[in-house]
Amino acid sequence: MNVILLGPPGAGKGTQAQRLVEKYGIVQLSTGDILRGAVASGSALGKQAKEVMEAGQLMPDDLMIRIISDRIDQPDCANGFILDGFPRTVPQADALDTLLSQKGLRLDHVIELKVDDAALVARIRGRASEESAAGKARADDNAETLKKRLAVYHEQTAPILPYYRRKGVLKAVDGMADIAGVARQIDALVGGGEN
Ligand code: AMP
Repeated sequence: MNVILLGPPGAGKGTQAQRLVEKYGIVQLSTGDILRGAVASGSALGKQAKEVMEAGQLMPDDLMIRIISDRIDQPDCANGFILDGFPRTVPQADALDTLLSQKGLRLDHVIELKVDDAALVARIRGRASEESAAGKARADDNAETLKKRLAVYHEQTAPILPYYRRKGVLKAVDGMADIAGVARQIDALVGGGEN
């Protein structure tokens, strides 16, 4: 099963992706996590990613497409994957279509987590303070960057929604529900509602 989770930063994509990993034995491909790993390793990619992430901007499409294509080729993706944070632009969505068909793969579900911006600001503030209390602050989670990330989401990522709607594969869940409630809605969509 190959799934895309869409929604603005802080919508809960990562949390829901992790649950799908446990439930369906598929892997979570988070481009944000991949980039944070690169930042931690101090690689050239990491240096570029650090600047871009701190500015709340997006990394170049061609780079991200190459990263995700290589990642999908890894053996652990054979059972399926959840894309979390990719695609983030219409060119990335287009390229994903092409690369999946070249690999003989298809998308089973594209799921939008619907939330409102004000709730996101509150949620991300909460997450940032929890994480900094636990000593693992996400540098891209401060309120200033969040505003930029939300603006970038509306400008560059939200146009993906009509793209998938036109293809007839887009489904939406109410991301304002609690974690278990969102999980139930997702399970009902992907056909795993029995549990
Ligand atoms: P995330 O954890 O998905 O919110 O990603 C954190 C940051 O990594 C984003 O704000 C972007 O700067 C960068 N990033 C993650 N995924 C992508 C992508 N698919 N395309 C471009 N930039 C990305």
